Amino acid sequence: MTDCLFCKIVAREVPADIVHETDRTVAFKDINPTAPVHILVIPREHVEDAAAITPEYADDLAALVVAAREVAEAHGVAGPDRGYRLVFNVGPDATNSVPHLHLHVIGGRAMTWPPG
Ligand code: AMP
Ligand code: ZN
Repeated sequence: MTDCLFCKIVAREVPADIVHETDRTVAFKDINPTAPVHILVIPREHVEDAAAITPEYADDLAALVVAAREVAEAHGVAGPDRGYRLVFNVGPDATNSVPHLHLHVIGGRAMTWPPG
């Protein structure tokens, strides 16, 4: 996608604080963090959102979740007495604002449920 902010981050056309990369994924710090650890894991290939995922997308989806765990471990929020939240926002009611699939990895503070 030529006019997608997160595709431009993948292509290094827009700067970002990239903290993790695989052949399928890129992870970078959220520009407006909601917790001490707030990192977005995205697929290199453009997909609009979680509602656009099909069974053919299984390998990329698994890569996103594995990358999220590695990011959480590297940032000290994994482990039995810590924890983190993985979030896909879909649509305006969920405040989705960037139309390129991104998995939020949020941690480093105690959270409440349900989310606001
Ligand atoms: P969502 O509301 O799920 O669409 O989340 C989009 C997230 O992208 C928000 O948490 C924003 O703070 C974050 N964001 C937007 N632009 C950038 C950027 N250039 N670099 C890093 N994070 C960004
Ligand atoms: Zn994109």
